[in-house]
Amino acid sequence: MERRESAQERFEELTGRVASVQAKIDDATARRDAAFEEIDGEAATATKERGIVAGSVPDDLLKLYDKLRIKEGGVGAARLYQRRCEGCQLELNITELNEVRAAAPDSVVRCENCHRILVRTSESGL
Ligand SMILES: [Zn+2]
Repeated sequence: MERRESAQERFEELTGRVASVQAKIDDATARRDAAFEEIDGEAATATKERGIVAGSVPDDLLKLYDKLRIKEGGVGAARLYQRRCEGCQLELNITELNEVRAAAPDSVVRCENCHRILVRTSESGL
């Protein structure tokens, strides 16, 4: 009789644990699904925005960017910030900086180290 009661208690304890674990799984699944939905929405927005921007970029520059993006792990262009390429994080030497300074504002300049397209801004340190 005692063994039976003990087995019944153990069964109820384990049933409770299973229900608790299942509730955690259900909660995690719901959060995962919500995150997927949010990511899918962001990806759709980014894809749409990229299409708009890409339409304004000359074909040869877009081809270069796409080639570099594939080669460089998803980043084909990087900001030149305070004399540093934010793609490879290396600071340009004085010769490289002078070449960038001398380049026409609408010309494509690239990092000597990682070869990404350098995006010049007022904070480039030129
Ligand atoms: Zn670089």
